[in-house]
Amino acid sequence: AKRAGRNRSVLLSQEQFAAEARRSAITQALASTAVEADLRLVFQPQFRACGAFDGAEALLRWRDPRLGEIGPAEFIPIAEETGLIQRIDARVAVLAARQLGLWARRGWRHRLAVNASAQTFARAGFAEELLQHLADEEVCPQQLVVELTETSLATLSSVADHNIATLRRAGVGIAIDDFGTGYASLSYLHRIEATEIKIDRGFVAGLETAERRDSKPLIQAILGIAQALGLAVTAEGVETERQRCWLSAEGCDRLQGYLLGRPLPVDAFEAAFVTPSAG
Ligand code: C2E
Ligand code: CA
Ligand code: CA
Ligand code: CA
Repeated sequence: AKRAGRNRSVLLSQEQFAAEARRSAITQALASTAVEADLRLVFQPQFRACGAFDGAEALLRWRDPRLGEIGPAEFIPIAEETGLIQRIDARVAVLAARQLGLWARRGWRHRLAVNASAQTFARAGFAEELLQHLADEEVCPQQLVVELTETSLATLSSVADHNIATLRRAGVGIAIDDFGTGYASLSYLHRIEATEIKIDRGFVAGLETAERRDSKPLIQAILGIAQALGLAVTAEGVETERQRCWLSAEGCDRLQGYLLGRPLPVDAFEAAFVTPSAG
């Protein structure tokens, strides 16, 4: 038993070593000035409860020449811990504004949502720069939504309040992402002028899994809060017809998930949702 125990601890430390090596490789690659060229956006469509197409969320993808394709679930937390997220989010702002500009010139009038970390909201100048990118591309600010993710422990500062107020005044939408899973969801609602909230896909998945506590009452409570405050609600991670039916019957405004549409590279997204298929 002693020997097995020792072997196990050796294995564990090898795993930890490998994880640490990968972490530091990712950090180095993210810190390189060349990283911006390896970042791209994919676009996941959103739909109204009635089924009509209603815009998209831009999601970041990263392909490093040496490390290959790395998912945001792996590199965003590392970027947040190392502070590199601010540069990444700044790049996303440029890419999203440029894309929105191209689509707007083709007559696209829908909304595009982008993600920004709490650290990015805490950076002075974030809102002004974002609005400048939109102006450069002649995009109407009403077409942009910024999703505030709560993955970072950073608390909202007065700088963040200023950024949010500046974006709101210009007409940019503010969504609170993964609502109900973060540290301060209710206090955020109290403090900032959000326009919408997004129900985390964990709650949506909980509509059907037997192991987890039923999430119906939770989602209903979230919808009640949103209604009381006049906020729109988007449910994410909709994977089944039953979830879709239940969420629209309960009054969810917008739905997003693999059932309705996966995140798509720009060409596929444009073919489906930007260029009218008839024309
Ligand atoms: P998120 O903002 O909650 O984005 C939704 C995630 O759920 C995306 O994962 C999306 O691909 C995935 N998803 C959508 N529909 C379904 C579904 O029906 N089932 C399942 N299982 N998953 C679904 P993704 O693209 O891997 O992004 C993960 C997270 O990384 C995002 O979560 C967001 O917090 C962060 N992220 C992505 N892009 C950016 C960015 O540009 N900036 C920042 N700061 N964070 C980003
Ligand atoms: Ca999001
Ligand atoms: Ca989310
Ligand atoms: Ca998330």
